[in-house]
Amino acid sequence: MSTLITEFITVQSPADRSVLADLGVDGPDRVATAAASLRAAQPAWETLGLEQRSRWLAAMRDWLLDNTERIVDIMEAEAGKVRAEAALELGWVCDIINNYSRRGPELLGDKRIGASLLPLRATKRYTIQRRPHQLVGVIGPWNFPVVLTFGDAIPALLAGAAVLLKPSEVTPLALREVVRGWQQELGAPPVVDIVLGRAETGGALIDEVDFVQFTGSTRTGKAVARRAAETLTQVSLELGGKDPMIVLGDADLERAANAAVWGGFVNSGQVCISVERVYVEAPVYDEFVARVVDKVKALRHGTDLGAMISPAQIGIVEDHLADARAKGARVLTGGSRADREGDWYQPTVLVDVNHAMTVMREETFGPVLPIMKVDGAQEAIRLANDSPFGLAATVFAGDARAGEEVARQIDAGTVNVNDALHGAMCIDVPMGGWKASGIGARGGDYGMLKFTRAKTVTAPRLPAPAAEPLWFPYDSVRAQIAQRAMRFINARGRRRWQSSR
Ligand code: NAD
Repeated sequence: MSTLITEFITVQSPADRSVLADLGVDGPDRVATAAASLRAAQPAWETLGLEQRSRWLAAMRDWLLDNTERIVDIMEAEAGKVRAEAALELGWVCDIINNYSRRGPELLGDKRIGASLLPLRATKRYTIQRRPHQLVGVIGPWNFPVVLTFGDAIPALLAGAAVLLKPSEVTPLALREVVRGWQQELGAPPVVDIVLGRAETGGALIDEVDFVQFTGSTRTGKAVARRAAETLTQVSLELGGKDPMIVLGDADLERAANAAVWGGFVNSGQVCISVERVYVEAPVYDEFVARVVDKVKALRHGTDLGAMISPAQIGIVEDHLADARAKGARVLTGGSRADREGDWYQPTVLVDVNHAMTVMREETFGPVLPIMKVDGAQEAIRLANDSPFGLAATVFAGDARAGEEVARQIDAGTVNVNDALHGAMCIDVPMGGWKASGIGARGGDYGMLKFTRAKTVTAPRLPAPAAEPLWFPYDSVRAQIAQRAMRFINARGRRRWQSSR
């Protein structure tokens, strides 16, 4: 029975505001129906085994590669991305499929725990088995419409879970096409579905699933965690950031300037791990700023820089700039909307900034790069850590080892030495936020294990007696022997060993 649709989403192109689609919103009933069908299909998917599940994911990889141009067209239109960046997203998804398919046997296989000296344990075999959460819900943002939705679903599917996806209401079209590929073109098992809508649909999804994989703002992440607490549902929250970059006096300034410009302006600054603030040691500050400004002036709208996602996002950028200017910041280039139809903003470089300004404290999520002069590395580290966020950071140093030592002192989930945004491109390492930037992580071992539940199974290694020494009935002699044995095994040092006798 189909549910009556009473509410719609209008998807618009940020580049020229043309209407791309009007889509019905899925209410709680439709979310519950989708969840029930996925739950019904999941046991057979899990029983298929990892090898067969990997085959379906490999078929999906091939389908994505064969249909890249069409999906990139959709992403370009709905997210206002430039083509070079939209195309990378699908390659990233394929990389996730290949990597987690390769690592699946190691991560999901049974783990045996070695024997113990304790007689109680020496006779036992301990195994940790992994079983998937039955239904994983993925709620995604608009800035990477496929990799931060379907990409997160991949380790869950490989682990044997079914997945219900909710894309951002701003960019639902590319993911809808990917799900159509899985369901209709591949005819794959019915363990992937999509629901469309805003907060109400997302909330209904949280109520239905066993694990929530959320990517979005810190504000919404808190709402998701509150809702999930009602059903004691686990969450992995990948949230916002205010990522610092530190440039030490001996750094390769040309590479550092290129990294700052790419890291600050990729996807028009609308990346969770964008470089959002830069601290430069005083002796090289002027030269670094001059190089950055030259490079930013050379960026081309439509080729290097895409549109901003919405007038509201431009509004945030304008608010941050107005606050910074009012408090004494200088704009060296940019500083206003671009002179073209649609939601475009000029790439902007700011100096004379400080931590009293919103642009240095809150996520701007736009093409703005504030640069601040510092006396030395310690001041840079202190300022980098002076933030409620802790997603990622960048350190530029002449000596990479010295850069790694600075990295150790920064409160963030990832620190890239002499590079920007790099950690997120390697699926083998965790990418997670500290502080208000999240709970959990994607990537690495945890990126797959979080979609599973650990089950400890204990079994006898030898024929078992009718009763264990610690079972009823208790008697004082056996209790004393047990207590002394425990003490002997756990005590360290002769004095405590002797008193065990
Ligand atoms: P958002 O928080 O506005 O929305 C994210 C998703 O949550 C959307 O699908 C939205 O419909 C849904 N949603 C909204 N309210 C909800 C509710 N009450 N319950 C359930 N779902 C709800 O974020 P956005 O504007 O789409 O994305 C930009 C933000 O995402 C930025 O803050 C950025 O830093 C962050 N982000 C983080 C990462 C990361 O990996 N840490 C990656 C990309 C983006």
